[in-house]
This record gives sequence, C-alpha cells and structure tokens, in this order.
Amino acid sequence: MNFKTMTAMALALSAYSTAPAFAADLPEAQKAAIVQTVEGDAEQIGSTALAIWGFAELGYQETQSSALLQSDLRNAGFEITAGVAGQPTAFVASFKNGEGPVIGILAEFDALPGLSQAVSPVEETLGGHAGHGCGHNLFGTASSYAAIAVREWMIANNIKGEIRLYGTPAEEGGSAKAFMVRDGLFNDVDVALHWHPGSSNDASQGTTKANVSGKFRFYGTSSHASGAPDRGRSALDAVESMNYMVNMMREHVHEATRIHYVITDGGKAPNVVPNFAEVYYYVRHGDPMTVLDVVERVKKAAEGAALGTGTRYEFQQIGGVYSMMPNGTLMEVMDRNLRYSGTLSWTPEENAFATEIQKTLATQPPLSSVGEIRPARLSFDGGGGSTDVSDVSWVVPTVGLSTATFVPGSAGHSWQNVAAAGHSIGVKGTVLATKALALTAAELFVSPETITAATAELHERRGADFVYRPLVGDGPPQLDYRK
Ligand SMILES: [Zn+2]
Ligand SMILES: [Zn+2]
Repeated sequence: MNFKTMTAMALALSAYSTAPAFAADLPEAQKAAIVQTVEGDAEQIGSTALAIWGFAELGYQETQSSALLQSDLRNAGFEITAGVAGQPTAFVASFKNGEGPVIGILAEFDALPGLSQAVSPVEETLGGHAGHGCGHNLFGTASSYAAIAVREWMIANNIKGEIRLYGTPAEEGGSAKAFMVRDGLFNDVDVALHWHPGSSNDASQGTTKANVSGKFRFYGTSSHASGAPDRGRSALDAVESMNYMVNMMREHVHEATRIHYVITDGGKAPNVVPNFAEVYYYVRHGDPMTVLDVVERVKKAAEGAALGTGTRYEFQQIGGVYSMMPNGTLMEVMDRNLRYSGTLSWTPEENAFATEIQKTLATQPPLSSVGEIRPARLSFDGGGGSTDVSDVSWVVPTVGLSTATFVPGSAGHSWQNVAAAGHSIGVKGTVLATKALALTAAELFVSPETITAATAELHERRGADFVYRPLVGDGPPQLDYRK
C-alpha cells in the first residue's frame, strides 16, 4: 500500500469510534501514591531540568544532558544501555519485573541553535550558541521521573512487566527516533508515551507533517571577484539560483506543503568568489509520499542551478519523519489521568514574570488558562510542525500530552520559551506532566484490554498491509548535522 492510500485510510477512519471508555482500573490509593512519589521528587525534577537547560546541547552532542538523565535513572534502579541505534547520546533505561506489558516513555533533551537566552522577561542573550526554545530539558526530565515513579509503584504492588525509558537525542532535525524504530528498538513495546512542553494543559492527539531534510552543498571555483571574475564560478550563485527556482515552485506544489531553508555557508568575503556554499532545506507535508515527490523536484532545482552556474552539487539527507498517528483509545486514558493530576497555579512572582513576558508578545491570552485543562480532541488536520515521535506512532500505539510550561501567547522556538523553560513555571508544568505520564503508564499495566483496543485502533488506521519504510533511508544517523 502506498502512502497516499494509507493517508486516505487514516482520514477515512478518523471517525473510527474509539473503544468504550475503560474504567480506571487503578485503585485510588495507588494513584494517590504515584502522585505523592512525583511530588516527593519535585525538587530533583527541577534541578535536573534546570541543569539540562544550562547545558543547552545541540542534537547528537547532548553528552552531559544524556549522562545526567542516565545517572538519575541508574541511581533509581534502572539498567541502562547507552549508545543505541548508532547514536552515542541515545540510551534505553529499563526496569523489568517478570513478564507483562512493555511500556515505553520517550525522553528528549536537545536544544536549538542560536537561541541562547537568560531567564529574563526581556530578550537577553547569555552569549551561548544554543537554548531550550522547545523545552526539551523539561521533556526528558518529566519522562525520566515518570518512569522512576512507575518503577516504585511496580515494586510496591508487584506489578509484572517492564517500564522502559527511551533517551532520544536530536529531535530537532536529527530524526533520532526514526533510526531507533528502523533498527527495531520498539519491536517489543506495547504502548509508547510522550509529552511536550506547551502553553496549555491538553491531552488532544493530532496529526503532524511528515518531513524530509537535508543539506545541498555546491562546489565552484574561487578567484579575485574584481581582478579575475571571469575565472571564478560562484557556489553562492548556485545556492541563490536554486532558492529562486524553489521559491517559484511554491506556486506549483500542494498548498499544504511547507518548504524552508537557511543558507548555512554563503562564502567568506565579497572579494573572493565563493568556491563553496551550502543551503539546508526542510520539505514538509501531511502525506509522506508528497514530501518525497517535492524533495525530488527540489533536487532538480539544485541540479539546474549547478548546471547554469558551472558548479557541482551534492545532497546529504539529514532527517526524515512520518506524520503523527493519533490514538483515540489512549487519548481517553491520558485525558483522564491528566485531569486526576490537577492543574497549575502560579505564584504572584510567577504571574509577574509571565505578565512581563506577555508585554513582548503579539497576543496576551489570560494567564489563568494555565489553571485549566482543555477538552481532549482527536484531529486530523495535519497542522503544526513535525516530530520523530511520529515514526514510533506508526509501529506502536502512542499517546502524548502537553502541559503549560510556557507563557500563554508565546511562539514555539522563541526566546520567551527559553526563558520560561529555565524558570519555575517551566518546572511546575514538568511536574504536572510527570504525574500524568506515570498514572497513564500505571493504568495501562493493569488494563491489558486497553492495550488490545489501542493496538487494534492503530492497525485499523494504518491498514492491514502496512510495512514501515523509514524516510531516513538506509544510512547511519547524521551525527554531525549540527557541527
Ligand atoms: Zn521544536
Ligand atoms: Zn520539541
């Protein structure tokens, strides 16, 4: 079955009636104990999250961040396998208590380039080269401490099965999880859980955009730009010609397509004809097949640009991820446990910080919204960005949530988000996410019928003859993509 058919099927099944709501099988005393464990760990959750915020390490270079999470998990009694799927900073932490369900929790921890920012309500660089503008310092920490809380609950109640924490690097463009899926690391997992820092509390599940990314490198001939221009062939001319053609192409691709680029090397001095230039592209669409089609056309633009400018080019693919597969059965479980976990309340100081941040934003939604939980919705509009969680979601029933760790009205990947992710408001949202993840995992361990229903829903949505074909191809992870 091709991707178009699969997507059509997913859309057709969007009205799939989710399985009947299962009773929350976890006794009240056990739920309360899990919440209490997380609250007891809140201080440590804060210190780990803020330490990773300070490391602010880029994709596949998260040595300290990965080591800190591994150390927290090891100290809590997990067995660690580090350096999985050809990625030195990836790891799997496991606690197994006999045979039973295998629940995986995903933990990200990479930062974004160029987003260094102080914990300040005004734009203020720390002089570093990276910052946690997507809040992955919070992401990795909540997931790890949820696994730790689940382990304690399993021991206290002799629950059979395995809780597994996946330390997943390089989400921002590195597609690390796609390589992990390709290499079989999720083959025996029954359900995968994740979350994401956000500006509201919400267990909605929705599709995302598939994405293929890569770098086009052009090689020309250098010469004195004024003394001997006729002997030069400019690699920057090739990049500009390619970009021009791709920008014209925007009119002739499906309107839901997204194409973005940055020129990562455009030469060094105006008086030297650049013999090297590089441009880094993303192509996105809800349908992975459309992405592959457009990427081929972008490559043709590169070829034409090289031909016309007397240069040559090469293409290095960096990432490739699917569109997200939502699961309604699991959404109900996550939503119920988020509601059990409570909401957020900010101190007057936290509100003042958020109010100052909002002065820099185009919109100022009420801060009181962080004390609410939005209704959970299953959506198939393919909005927003892309994530390598998607690849997991096509092979294992997967569910996530977001909690309010950022100031309402902030944009993703912004300095405002870096500031909030290093602040106590970020930590509070992280503790809330830890509770919801731990409770959801625990409920799934004792509710095999929910796992069966979630798996059946995944199989229906993706189609009977679905075979996972990684968009990252056959090669190794591009460990140097941020260098
Ligand atoms: Zn991001
Ligand atoms: Zn993110």
